[in-house]
Amino acid sequence: MSAAPDVAVVGGGIVGCALAAFLAEGGARVVLYEREAIAAGASGRNSGVVQDPLDPALTALYEESLEHYRTLGHGFELPAEPAGLLLLGEHPERPPGEATYVERARELEPALAEGLAAYRLETARPVPPAAAAHAFAARAREAGADLRVGTPYDGESAGAVVIAAGPWSAELLDVPVTPLWGVVVELELPDPPRHVLEEAGIDVLTGDAGIPDVLFSAVTARGISAVGSTFLVERPDPEALAPRILSHAERFLPGVSQARIRGLRACARPASADGRPYLGMISERLAVATGHGAWGITLGPASARLVADQLLGRPVEIPPALNALRP
Ligand SMILES: Cc1cc2nc3c(=O)[nH]c(=O)nc-3n(C[C@H](O)[C@H](O)[C@H](O)COP(=O)(O)OP(=O)(O)OC[C@H]3O[C@@H](n4cnc5c(N)ncnc54)[C@H](O)[C@@H]3O)c2cc1C
Repeated sequence: MSAAPDVAVVGGGIVGCALAAFLAEGGARVVLYEREAIAAGASGRNSGVVQDPLDPALTALYEESLEHYRTLGHGFELPAEPAGLLLLGEHPERPPGEATYVERARELEPALAEGLAAYRLETARPVPPAAAAHAFAARAREAGADLRVGTPYDGESAGAVVIAAGPWSAELLDVPVTPLWGVVVELELPDPPRHVLEEAGIDVLTGDAGIPDVLFSAVTARGISAVGSTFLVERPDPEALAPRILSHAERFLPGVSQARIRGLRACARPASADGRPYLGMISERLAVATGHGAWGITLGPASARLVADQLLGRPVEIPPALNALRP
C-alpha cells in the first residue's frame, strides 16, 4: 500500500490540472482524481479566449495567468499579440478601462452588420479550448503527480484535499457555486472576423426566470469561429438551441446564414454569486478553487498558483474579494 498523498486534487479541468502541476513542482506528493477525462467539462469546450475580464478584482489574476501561459509550452501557444475585442451594440455602454469608440464597427470588421457601433479593447487572445488543461496535465505528470483519470474522488485520505471540481464542487462541499450552461456553435464563416466579438452586456448573465438568455459572441481561431452563447441554469439540448443562437448571431454577422456548421459544444460554467472565484483553505485540511464562471481559462493558472502556495505553506495572501471564506 502506498502512503496517502500530501494533497488530493479533485477535478481535471484547467484549475485542477494547474494545481496538480504547481503542487508537484513545489515538492508535494499529488494525486489528481478526474472522474471522466482531462478537460471533460468547460475546460475543454469553452469559447477559447484569454482576455481581460474587466473586473478590477480579477486584473491581477488575469495578468499573472498571461505570464504562466507565456512559459507553459507542452503544446500550448499563447498568441503574442491580442486579436482585439469589439464590444458591439447600437449604442454600447463604455466599458471600464481603455477602450476606443468606433461609430461604424464595419469599418474595422467588414463582416459585421450595418448599424453597429463598438468599443475596441486591446485584449483577447484566442487559444484552442482544451489546450491549457492538457498542457498543465502534462506538466503535472512530468513533475511526478499521479493523475487518476476515470476515477471519481471517493473521500480517499490525504494530508489535504483541494476541490477544483468546477460546477460540481457544490456536491462535495458547501460552496455557493452553480452550473450556468453555455452552448457554442462551431462555424466556418465565409468571411471570418479577425477580432473577438461580443454583444455589449454579456456580463449580464441571466435572463427572466426560465427564459434562455442568448448573448452573441464569436471567437475565431484557425478559420473556425466559436459562436455563442447561452447562459442557462438547466442543462440544455444543444441541437435544439443551435437555431436560436444562430438567428441571434445573424443580427451581428449576416454571413452566419451561409456558414457551414462544424460542431456544437455545451458545458457548464462554475458560477459564483458575485462572478469571482472562491479560493483557498476553508478548514485545516480542505481547500477549494472554483467559481471562475465565464473566466476559468483566463484566470485558472493564477488562481491555482495562489492555492498551491497556500497548501505548500508558502507566504501568500488570498485577496479578500477572492477568499473562499468571504461572506
Ligand atoms: C460556453 C462557454 C464558453 C466559455 N468561454 C471561455 C473563454 O473564452 N475564456 C475563459 O477564460 N473562460 C471561458 N469559459 C469558462 C471556463 O470554461 C470555465 O470557467 C473553466 O473551464 C472552469 O474550469 P474548472 O477547472 O474550474 O472546472 P471544469 O472544467 O468544469 O472541471 C471540473 C472537472 O471536475 C471533474 N469532476 C467533477 N466532480 C468530480 C468528482 N467527484 N471526482 C472527480 N472528478 C470530478 C469533472 O469531470 C470536470 O472535468 C467558458 C465557459 C462556457 C460554458
